[in-house]
Amino acid sequence: MNTEPGETPNSPSPREENRGIIDISDAGAVLAPNHNPRPQMDAGNRPVGNNNNRNRHNHNRNKNNRPQGQPFSSNGNAPVAEGQNSQPSAQNNRPNFHKKGQSNRSKPTGGAGAPGEGARPKARSRRMSQPRRAPMAPLTTAGENRVIHKANRNVLRIIPLGGSGEIGAMNMLVYEYNDDILVIDAGIKFPDADMPGVDYVIADTTYLEENKSRIRAFVVTHGHEDHIGAFPYVWPKFPVPIYTAPLTAGFIKAKFEEHGIQGYEFRIIQPGEKVQIGAFTIEPVQMTHSIPDILGLAITTPVGLIYHAADWKVDFTPAFGKPTDFAKLAELSNRGVLCMLTDSTGILQPGFTLSETVVSKAIEDVFIGVKGRLIVSSFSSRIDRMQHVINACAKTGRKLFLAGRSMERNANIAMELGYLKVPAGLIGDIRTVNSLPDDKVVVMSTGSQGEEGSALSRMSSGEHRHITIKKGDTVMLSSSIIPGNEKAIDLTINNLYRIGAEVITNKELDIHSSGHGSREEIKHVLNILKPKYLIPMHGDYRRFVEMGKLAVTTGIKEENVLIIENGQVVEFNLEGKGIISTEKVPVGSILIDGSGVGDVGEIVLRDRQTMAKDGVFLVILTVKAKSGQLISSPDIISRGFVYMKESEELIGGARILAKRIHAQNTAGGSVQWDQLKKDLREEMSDYLFNKTQRHPMVISAVIQI
Ligand SMILES: [Zn+2]
Ligand SMILES: [Zn+2]
Repeated sequence: MNTEPGETPNSPSPREENRGIIDISDAGAVLAPNHNPRPQMDAGNRPVGNNNNRNRHNHNRNKNNRPQGQPFSSNGNAPVAEGQNSQPSAQNNRPNFHKKGQSNRSKPTGGAGAPGEGARPKARSRRMSQPRRAPMAPLTTAGENRVIHKANRNVLRIIPLGGSGEIGAMNMLVYEYNDDILVIDAGIKFPDADMPGVDYVIADTTYLEENKSRIRAFVVTHGHEDHIGAFPYVWPKFPVPIYTAPLTAGFIKAKFEEHGIQGYEFRIIQPGEKVQIGAFTIEPVQMTHSIPDILGLAITTPVGLIYHAADWKVDFTPAFGKPTDFAKLAELSNRGVLCMLTDSTGILQPGFTLSETVVSKAIEDVFIGVKGRLIVSSFSSRIDRMQHVINACAKTGRKLFLAGRSMERNANIAMELGYLKVPAGLIGDIRTVNSLPDDKVVVMSTGSQGEEGSALSRMSSGEHRHITIKKGDTVMLSSSIIPGNEKAIDLTINNLYRIGAEVITNKELDIHSSGHGSREEIKHVLNILKPKYLIPMHGDYRRFVEMGKLAVTTGIKEENVLIIENGQVVEFNLEGKGIISTEKVPVGSILIDGSGVGDVGEIVLRDRQTMAKDGVFLVILTVKAKSGQLISSPDIISRGFVYMKESEELIGGARILAKRIHAQNTAGGSVQWDQLKKDLREEMSDYLFNKTQRHPMVISAVIQI
């Protein structure tokens, strides 16, 4: 499996991905055909581990406050990186990464859309723009018998809150020693098809809330969504400084700006530097991955040296910057690495991954061979891929046009920070794309995962304002398939064939390489670092076990491979002995519905009690995919709201209302899916409140058959 979990789709709104079918399982409730029911959201089936009303915090919205973390270095050492490039928290000192009107966007364009922009969340009512507890938390382990942790003295604790047990998922990990906590990364994952209406999933931060006063900093390894996507939701609750490299900081800042979040403080760290944060000394290490500015973290703690390898591959000829700093790894090895935590994503792949330079050459060959227009679709975070395309454009005398909001945004950030080298005049204004002959045009777009509403999907359906893909065009999908997106990608490819376009994927040519090291690369680094202990991260259980087996072949003792999943705790004592503690901290998933883009000045975290207080109310329409015609009467499911049998009148009224909203949104033959779902939620909410004076969480879903 060639997964690229680090590279999440460009679209900030997976709701718009063409998942086709939404599965809302409930005992006896509606099920889409060909779908395995996964019980969830049943009243008797409460989410495991994250459903207790523990320690409710009134989420402070420290929008205008300075970070209120503790003074940084309790020992008086100023962080080395401070002042280098840090962004002070003053409001009027906001970074100006976006020259192209990004920062003024206070309202999303909603249904009207803004052709020419990438897929993005539609405006949603604030009522819905709030996180919810996950109905299903696959790896939750905390239970009622959870012990609230009192910091064990002089013990290093390592706790994954997210990212351990699933691929590409909401990475977040805690290092804790006495009074100091570091949080590494704060990522999202995109929801499963059975989380209707949900945009993102983030890790439960209850543990951090319970230990808020000890949190010293976030340290961020790189700018992929599964490592930074949760910042707009999480950081306002823990407004401590964020240590990371420039590009990553740029990406996070862009998110903060979109959410109207202020008061953040970045402390830029680079390989070769050293910063002291509480009990931890951090040395960023040059690694390679599918994004520039990936940092490995050498963390010196009172119990020993930890190497936090984050996501990585070995690329001796990367597209950007320097290759993996093996000299530094060897130096760490000489000092003695107590424990390495590493990406396990690529563990099932034999051999070595392709170098980006090979990919670059393959892309160039395509450019030379193609006569018509060329559309390259990739992830917007693949700055390296963008650079290849820019280089190939320069060599073949073509002009580049960017399609998709996230593509433009990331390109702008990367250009301003000097990561992308673009010859003057090479990137053109998309509005002028049709004034050039076809063989002079390259379009780089989002949509390689088949996301509905993405630039590629709109260009192929004639909905894009400036470009319509036609016979003679060549479309290059320069990415791999994220599991779960197969159907949507197939659909896109078929559409392109229907139009008569040529399609090239990485199956045919080496136009894509994974960002995660394969087995030989992993052996290589393990052999150099020689850690005493190994904790596999970023993968599922199978990969963790395989990683452990491989590690043993390189000389790590079997009992020193510590396989833990989210919420489990590894403890190292001062003698450097590591154990998996019996303690489990609360973990789980929090669903984010609504991006908060429309709520400038409002952080979209609401208190999480809505569901506990007023229950949940689901409205499900089953319709014909093509015509949007209702196939059956709307299905209504409620839990914890009213007893259905005694509320026939209320439910009957809800059905009638649902039908009316459906009729309104399908009039004239064209179906406004998003508007339909939005109207359902909002009007149903009002209706229920009028009838009952309660505000259950209303979830609407449209199942297309
Ligand atoms: Zn990752
Ligand atoms: Zn990554």
